[in-house]
Amino acid sequence: MATTIFTKIIAGEIPCFRVYEDDKVLAFLDISPLSRGHTLVIPKEPAETLDQLSEESAAALGRVLPRLGRAILRATGATAFNILQNNGAIAHQVVMHVHFHVIPKYADGAGLGLQWPARSLGADEGKALAIAIVGQIG
Ligand code: 5GP
Repeated sequence: MATTIFTKIIAGEIPCFRVYEDDKVLAFLDISPLSRGHTLVIPKEPAETLDQLSEESAAALGRVLPRLGRAILRATGATAFNILQNNGAIAHQVVMHVHFHVIPKYADGAGLGLQWPARSLGADEGKALAIAIVGQIG
């Protein structure tokens, strides 16, 4: 994996506003927040996308996300938040090191804006897709 800005933040070569750290995870404030309290939670393991991450690092991230969510809500006074996790450039990933965005949502609309162009899932399509995905789970 190529070195990214997050590799340098993990190594302490670039400063950040750190809010949490353990042996597998680092969390720090996003430098261009969508809303007050916007935080990035990253594994120390170098992996570009979530599907390439080890189960150990994924578990460590999953363990701490609820705690961080609670802390961010209490610290900001927000009552809602979104978790955003982009994988791949066409999915809006810019920094190619796995990261979870924790983005407080405020009553005035500040936070993550979403487009959700939903369609309905047909029965045949659903059955075939579920079988295909089940067959690919290792
Ligand atoms: P992505 O689009 O890859 O999911 O989001 C990358 C995020 O990293 C963006 O929200 C951006 O503001 C944040 N970011 C990029 N460079 C830095 C940096 O040097 N420091 C911090 N704290 N955040 C950064």
